[in-house]
Amino acid sequence: MSYLANRIQQFGVTVFTEMTALAVQHQAVNLGQGFPDFAAPDFLKEAAREAIAADVNQYAPSYGRAPLKQAISAKVKRHYGLEADPDHEILVTHGATEALCAAILGLVNPGDEVILFEPFYDSYVPDVILAGGVPRFYTLRQPDWQIDREELAALFTPKTKLIIVNTPHNPTGKVFGREELGMIAELCQEHDVLALTDEVYEHIVFDGRVHHLLAQFPGMAARTLTISSLGKSFSVTGWKIGWVIAPPDLLRAAFRTHQFMTFCGAAPLQEAAAVALAVGDEYYTHLTQDYQAKRDFLMQVLAAAGLPPIAPAGTYFVMVDISRLGFPDDVAFCRYLTTAVGVAAIPPSAFYHNPADGARLARFAFCKSQLTLDEAARRLQNWRR
Ligand code: PMP
Ligand code: GLN
Repeated sequence: MSYLANRIQQFGVTVFTEMTALAVQHQAVNLGQGFPDFAAPDFLKEAAREAIAADVNQYAPSYGRAPLKQAISAKVKRHYGLEADPDHEILVTHGATEALCAAILGLVNPGDEVILFEPFYDSYVPDVILAGGVPRFYTLRQPDWQIDREELAALFTPKTKLIIVNTPHNPTGKVFGREELGMIAELCQEHDVLALTDEVYEHIVFDGRVHHLLAQFPGMAARTLTISSLGKSFSVTGWKIGWVIAPPDLLRAAFRTHQFMTFCGAAPLQEAAAVALAVGDEYYTHLTQDYQAKRDFLMQVLAAAGLPPIAPAGTYFVMVDISRLGFPDDVAFCRYLTTAVGVAAIPPSAFYHNPADGARLARFAFCKSQLTLDEAARRLQNWRR
């Protein structure tokens, strides 16, 4: 007999947990789960140490510590010209993961439809299911992952409550363009639908591209919740500092849930996060340059190994086409690569509602030190030979 509640019967173990365990077991170079394996910035670690030493060690206010909310407000104003009142329009959460779950649980009623782009980040569908919502999928197709207006418009029904937009997009590396976001904004207004954006890779965009905020399109400020976090931009995925920016009535939906999920995130890390977000633009310029160099290096390694990469416009992931290698599917390929070649990758079928749609792809992460990437390159070259 299963003790699991009905609502979680269909949840398995995440593909990240599974593939990292397999990588550890086989001493594979882990290009699967997306976490940096290099040191986090010293100034950030120092700020965290200082906050702990200064006894910022008790509960933070449920909405987040004031210096962090002010730093988030100042940062989005500086980068995007977005106005967010730190006292009424910003909620600090335990990572973007909690922000997403809190917002979805706070907004979606049983039977409400939620439009998602697939491949999707793996927490969206479980969040929608926990809320009793019904996911509706728009499938992005390689190699350019473009959106067709008619096809997207057809997903909007009188039951649609919310659309989730992840840009830059994990796992494809797609950065949603102005035209596409404009189209989404129009559809949201035509059908009176709310939008939730996941922008955790906002500072990792390549080749001079620009990250646009859906919230800044005409008519969208009042109906958009903008979610981001510190983990990717500052190489501290274990800190779990996230936030939601939204008008007060929408923010309340996420806040009410957040109170009873975590109440607040780690106070000293919020203090350090405020220091992080005050850094100048050159920090982000270096981040992008470093990741672009890593992307170019890994793409060239993958191509030489017979794994044609699909160039990502942003994020620290690259998808490759495995259709010519003769494996039954992406899971078989990624297990083989991890156990026999010693390089772990993520099978993207976990990010599709119909796993067959991801069966010809594999995802590699390049948020790794050059040493790690060099070792992966060496193993892939040997395999190729
Ligand atoms: N959204 C996307 C698209 C991600 O890739 C991640 C990374 N795990 C998250 C959300 C979660 O962010 P956090 O670690 O801040 O919870
Ligand atoms: N965001 C990371 C990825 O896509 C992993 C997140 C996690 O392990 N939950 O690889």
